Amino acid sequence: HAELHATFLSASLSSLSSSPSSSTTNGSFNTPPFPLLSIRYRTHQVLQIARLCQENADAICDALFQDLGKPREEVLLAEVGAVIERALITAQKVEEWVTGGDAEKVEMTAGWQKNWKAKVERRAKGVGLVISPWNYPLILTFQPLLGAVAAGCPAAIKLSEVVPQFSSLMAKLIAKYLDPRAYRVVLGGVKEITRVLQLKWDQIFYTGNGRVARIISAAAARHLTPMTLELGGKSPVIIHPETCGDLETAARRIIWGKINNAGQICIAPDYVLIPTTSIPSFVSAVSKALKSFFPKGALHPESSYARIVSQAHFKRIKGLLEGTKGKIVLGGQTGPGSVTSTPDRGIEPTVVVFPESMSLEEIGKDVLMEEELFAPVLPVIGVKSLEEGLEFVRRRDHPLVIYAFTEDQSLQDKILNTTMSGNFVFNDTFQQLASNDIPFGGVGESGHGRQVLKYTFDEFTYLRSVVDIPQSDEPGFVGRYPPSTAQSVAF
Ligand code: NAD
Repeated sequence: HAELHATFLSASLSSLSSSPSSSTTNGSFNTPPFPLLSIRYRTHQVLQIARLCQENADAICDALFQDLGKPREEVLLAEVGAVIERALITAQKVEEWVTGGDAEKVEMTAGWQKNWKAKVERRAKGVGLVISPWNYPLILTFQPLLGAVAAGCPAAIKLSEVVPQFSSLMAKLIAKYLDPRAYRVVLGGVKEITRVLQLKWDQIFYTGNGRVARIISAAAARHLTPMTLELGGKSPVIIHPETCGDLETAARRIIWGKINNAGQICIAPDYVLIPTTSIPSFVSAVSKALKSFFPKGALHPESSYARIVSQAHFKRIKGLLEGTKGKIVLGGQTGPGSVTSTPDRGIEPTVVVFPESMSLEEIGKDVLMEEELFAPVLPVIGVKSLEEGLEFVRRRDHPLVIYAFTEDQSLQDKILNTTMSGNFVFNDTFQQLASNDIPFGGVGESGHGRQVLKYTFDEFTYLRSVVDIPQSDEPGFVGRYPPSTAQSVAF
């Protein structure tokens, strides 16, 4: 069975190199009847992902240090360790996901259907395409892949060209650890992915930005391919100082969420809404936290602090800091920006406060508020009331996450019930990703579909209902056959 899948996948990938023009028609790319990959095979491949990470942790850390200056501890905790943990859980659970839950025997409730044998199966959608980004390239490649493998889908994996050391290492390791007949890496940039997208895939799982998501969605639409889109956006932080408990703790939790991977995270707290009168105490609490995290300064070589991924992003962020009408009150210093194998594109954790003279409408149009920052830059916006802050959030695209700092139950309810976002976190940031029990994903501009363990598995499977209607029920069916009479349709 594995071979059938694999032949199918290799044929599709080799058609990329041999005949690009014919692949546009997909004439030879008809999905064959889809065979089942055994649970044993899936479990083995899942465990191979865990082995890949465990046995190559050092090489993975080195590659990500060269590409991103990512601190080793960050890679081990948020990427290597998390993938191993989730691979082990997947290996334990895959059988239950396939046979239990919503994939079960069904009791027909209508009396005249009581003899029918019915069940619902969780079946693989077919061949998957996983397209992963550069910022957390290990977990954001393997988290979708674990779902695909558990579902029984072979898959092609497109790694990001923005982290070349990591991607070339991973291409070698995936070929070595996983069944190469069923799981293949695609390297390259826009040209290569454009050709891959000409093929008909059965599920595309894309993690990245909304602009590229539109290109991929348009390509997928040609084949009616279903998609999971894990995108980003500007995730706000709402602080209600009277009910947030200790403001210093809140500030420490917020700035910690921002400094991970130097702010290059889809769920980074993007900007803060806080009553204007509380801004000075918030800024001094952030300053205190940063001093304790980086006693020698964040850009000091001994500090555990990532660098900006590319020269283009480095220039973009410097441009934002030059263009904003806000005032830099903390940080703002940038590294030299030279391209070296260990990147020196450092940007200090930077807090920007908008002057009181600016209206919320003007602030909303500032360069810092146009797009997701994806940078260690935290704009702070003063509001007169919680309601004014909520209105500011509601007027913008639905964010991936809303963070709100209040311990008051009625305020929590009010904020939850009057906003929309993919996820919601009260009283902390970033940490929600460590949970194996809650789904993660966006809504509207921040994407659609869900991931983490069973939720990712669900994206790569569909529910097939199966009914067996016995011939012994035939006497009850006489009325359904033509010619109809008034008697046969009478209830
Ligand atoms: P990226 O540049 O690495 O792009 C992601 C993938 O898209 C890569 O494999 C790349 O080759 C491909 N790509 C780039 N241009 C393309 C094109 N024109 N056509 C087809 N494919 C193309 O990553 P990025 O988009 O810069 O990543 C950052 C974004 O990802 C942010 O917006 C962030 O919020 C989002 N993100 C979301 C999540 C999540 O889980 N929701 C996680 C991480 C990042």
